[in-house]
Amino acid sequence: MSELAYETKNGWKVADDAKKKEIFDFCDDYINYLNVGKTERLACSEAVRRAKEAGFCDIKEIKTLKAGDKVYMVNRDKSVYLAVIGEEDILNGINFVIAHIDSPRMDLKQNPLYEDCDMTLFKTHYYGGIKKYQWTAVPLALAGVIYTADGKKVDVRIGDKPGDPVFCVTDLLPHLADNQMQKKAPKIIEGENLNILIGSMPDNDSEKDAFKTAMLKLLNEKYGICEEDFISAELEAYPAAPACDVGFDRSMVGGYGQDDRVCAYTALRAILEIKSCKKTAVCVLVDKEEIGSMGNTGMRSAFFEFVTATLIEKAKGTYNELMLKTVFRNSECLSSDVNAAVDPTYPEVNEKRNASFLGHGIVITKYTGSRGKAGTSDANAEFVYKVRKLFNDNDIIWQSSELGKVDEGGGGTIAQYVANLDMEVIDCGVALLSMHAPFEIASKHDIYMAYKAYLAFYN
Ligand code: MN
Ligand code: MN
Repeated sequence: MSELAYETKNGWKVADDAKKKEIFDFCDDYINYLNVGKTERLACSEAVRRAKEAGFCDIKEIKTLKAGDKVYMVNRDKSVYLAVIGEEDILNGINFVIAHIDSPRMDLKQNPLYEDCDMTLFKTHYYGGIKKYQWTAVPLALAGVIYTADGKKVDVRIGDKPGDPVFCVTDLLPHLADNQMQKKAPKIIEGENLNILIGSMPDNDSEKDAFKTAMLKLLNEKYGICEEDFISAELEAYPAAPACDVGFDRSMVGGYGQDDRVCAYTALRAILEIKSCKKTAVCVLVDKEEIGSMGNTGMRSAFFEFVTATLIEKAKGTYNELMLKTVFRNSECLSSDVNAAVDPTYPEVNEKRNASFLGHGIVITKYTGSRGKAGTSDANAEFVYKVRKLFNDNDIIWQSSELGKVDEGGGGTIAQYVANLDMEVIDCGVALLSMHAPFEIASKHDIYMAYKAYLAFYN
């Protein structure tokens, strides 16, 4: 590709009709994945379903690994590692593509249920960075798990199947919102006001708490749960609307959770299609990125080392710590996360020579961070060269971008935690508009290029 980002050719301009059809067909299935996998648990189980279909086995069932073997390992139903064993010695390193499958949303609190003004509602605690005002007055669905007192696991998913009822956070009418509209945007809707309306019918036999009682009876009939069971539950409210084509030309995909399931899906497709590879290929779909990658299902969990150690042990028949560190030192990683595309309505937050544009291909981001590269892995020039050459040699349309203007803000990705393990890593993903909103936009061209890029990296 040529020179500066803003001069880079738009990928659509060089795509003929056959190529456009390939891109559109690819994105039809991407939309399916978005609609099935709307939470990290759902995205994880859908990835495993597809992996099994492609011949991957649970690593627990395998004693030794040889070239061509395909295995997966699930961590607590919220993250998954898929591996294709390469022809080379695993000590020569692994090619990792790592994306996250958690997205901003509203989690139910552990004591969520209450009644007020003859209505029944859920209290929530939002997850990840959201503009709270975007999450009112939109239809919401609910999914997750509940463990009952006797240990039964109840799967919940309601609101995004045809015919399902939906839920919603209500907002004030403009006529009575004078005070509200004077507030600064972060305060227009307070976190404690993200209460979800779930019912409005009383129990005819109760004098006290008739609305809450009616809801508990209903939930008991439907799910076999009682109020205390919410304590041992994880329920997430997310936009109910399905993902879909955007534009008269259908050139874009709109939908919830494309940060970062757009990179998760394309990385998954790539690893499932590997026939054989020189170096061992691993795709990691990880949880908890949106809240700092903390916890046992996030990228900072020792589970990452556990999986890598397990691969070494099963491939070599032996294991020690030096082998693990050697593998990391010899490994390369694409930290596959989204970038913020220039929005024509808000160009002032980007510096155009170092910004990403919709339709201009997969984005390479050497560093993220904020206020002077704080909190980032700054990929070294040698590795950037390698990735750039790989993409050029494989006709991948790509662009280079920062996350925004120097002092405009910023953010971190999992790249820093991977880099700390002594691995080569660079951020590399799809540019979005309206990131973290209930409806995010990506270019179909870029989605397809991400898939092609990950495939080239694995091979
Ligand atoms: Mn992300
Ligand atoms: Mn994000």
